[in-house]
Amino acid sequence: MIKITLKPGKEETLHRFHPWIFSGAIQSIAGKPNEGDVVELYDSKGNFLALGHYQIGSITVRVISFENRQINRTFWEERIQQAYQLRLALNLAENPTNNTYRLIHGEGDTLPGLIVDIYNDSAVMQAHSVGMHMVRKEIAEALVKIVKGLKNVYYKSETTLPFKAPIEKENGYLIGNSSDSIAMENGLRFYVDWLHGQKTGFFVDQRENRSLLEKYAKNRSVLNMFCYTGGFSFYAMRGNANLVHSVDSSNKAIELTEKNIALNFGNDSRHSAFAVDAFKYLENIENKYDLIILDPPAFAKHRDALRNALQGYRKLNAKAFEQIKPGGILFTFSCSQVVSREQFRLAVFSAAAQSKRVVRILHQLTQPADHPINIYHPEGEYLKGLVLYVE
Ligand code: SAH
Repeated sequence: MIKITLKPGKEETLHRFHPWIFSGAIQSIAGKPNEGDVVELYDSKGNFLALGHYQIGSITVRVISFENRQINRTFWEERIQQAYQLRLALNLAENPTNNTYRLIHGEGDTLPGLIVDIYNDSAVMQAHSVGMHMVRKEIAEALVKIVKGLKNVYYKSETTLPFKAPIEKENGYLIGNSSDSIAMENGLRFYVDWLHGQKTGFFVDQRENRSLLEKYAKNRSVLNMFCYTGGFSFYAMRGNANLVHSVDSSNKAIELTEKNIALNFGNDSRHSAFAVDAFKYLENIENKYDLIILDPPAFAKHRDALRNALQGYRKLNAKAFEQIKPGGILFTFSCSQVVSREQFRLAVFSAAAQSKRVVRILHQLTQPADHPINIYHPEGEYLKGLVLYVE
């Protein structure tokens, strides 16, 4: 195995179990590793530190073990088993009313570079590192061995793998081949289109926030802005909303939302969906809604886009504050990792102040427990939300 020695002092982050090594921390590499190889990390005095996946780029090594051990089939099975045990403890796996959950959340499950979402008897797997791409078949086999009832593993890494790697990027089934893509979340059914949809096909990370919304929906007129597959809309319908409007700029998202509403509620005239740009739609909604959800895509994917992103959040939220009915409730989110909780809150505060409305925070929301945050890798916290009462 190829040995990488760090510069003096650069071992400290590993002593604090942070799983990334940046290129600037490396003193020397004994040999020429290929991207995706497992490498050994040593401090400048020659002490063993960790094993990780090597990759060309600013994060050069992603640690997969702080113990010096064999990285083989048994290793992957152990890690996946641990992740599965947690989802059983959370009552997400093997639950008759819920078969949708994130099984592997990268660093949060001590498997940097790997994402696996479960939809009924199918798993959708994404590699964000070349190392995980290399072991995709072993991982797929471990998944069907461990996850009860799992039959298919779809691999979807065409857009998530680093572009520098000279590997064939591919999407396709590693195991099985599913034609049934109806999954269930908290008793609500929905189609997941992992072949063409965004991410793994569904935003699993909003499950608990959608449940909370259901409790507020009764007799309200709901606007679900950035609805994608309509997740928040079906919870609002089940929560006895008077009216639910789902809006997304993508025609495909609107079609999927309509299909999902029909799957759960048949032809229910309380729901309508519109394919329109958010800012255009929000130009004039005065007094129409008393429950608004704003769940936009990440406005900042990189640190240099931060300023514009914060301005985007401020403008978007200002539109809602200005027009929501008195006594209205706003669910507002940011999934940009580079926007901190404080920065998001400030953007929302300044939008509220601009509208001169009296606003109270009812809940502060985050990602659910199947998207755990490794305590040594605080960067893993990305989803932030506020539930606000607007007088
Ligand atoms: N709330 C959703 C996830 C939202 S993902 C859920 O619970 O599943 C973000 C969505 O915003 C995507 O579907 C994307 O098509 C949509 N979108 C992006 N830019 C938009 C814009 N300017 N106006 C309206 N929708 C937009």
